[in-house]
Amino acid sequence: MWTSLRRALAASINLLLPPACLLCGQSLPTDHSKQSFCRDCLTSITTLSPAHCLCCAQPFPDSTSIHLCGNCLKRPPAFSIVHAAGLYQGCIKDAVHRLKYRNQVTLARPLGQLLGKIVEAAGDFVPDCIVPVPLHPDRLRQRGYNQALEVARPIAQQLNVPINTGLLQRIRKTPPQQGLTAIERRNNLRNAFNLTTTPSAQRILLVDDVMTTGETVRECCRTLLVGGVREVQVAVVGRA
Ligand SMILES: [Zn+2]
Ligand SMILES: [Zn+2]
Repeated sequence: MWTSLRRALAASINLLLPPACLLCGQSLPTDHSKQSFCRDCLTSITTLSPAHCLCCAQPFPDSTSIHLCGNCLKRPPAFSIVHAAGLYQGCIKDAVHRLKYRNQVTLARPLGQLLGKIVEAAGDFVPDCIVPVPLHPDRLRQRGYNQALEVARPIAQQLNVPINTGLLQRIRKTPPQQGLTAIERRNNLRNAFNLTTTPSAQRILLVDDVMTTGETVRECCRTLLVGGVREVQVAVVGRA
């Protein structure tokens, strides 16, 4: 009896407040089966084109092949590959902004699920744990949550691996990277992270919301490898 009551209640709620796409607000079909994004928004996401850097996933707009970019050739990063839910544009950019700056934490779950599917589909890497890029404690206090951790949660659930939030910490409060030149970005983040202990994990998936020049994830991965981790792969919602 309780089950039929619950079903009837859920149907009435759906009738009064039909489920809507978290990105554009349009009503979701009744058979949306717990989808949070509508078909239009999902199809508008630009996934990484075939032409991108084999390592850092930097898109090559004027090329048709996969190879290493100049930056990765000059300064080989400590990570082996970057997975991304999509290019940092359109609804992915909008969603990351709302998650990060407008407290819309409910977006983290569907974005993390999208990203988790991409990591899983790549198929050849089973991390021992997932490490979200940490915020400085002051920034965390201001924002109230770490968006990278919120995105990491559904990925951890999907891959069935633990999240480690205690291993990597941000010890320097750095000014935002926007508006800085490439060299300034690198200097800005030098020694910004450290390890609280010697990592027992050999393979780590590092998760962040967005990757632009990649200096943040480069520095995190460098710190993890210096600590003895064998391989780090990176997963980001948006790749600029
Ligand atoms: Zn939509
Ligand atoms: Zn590259």
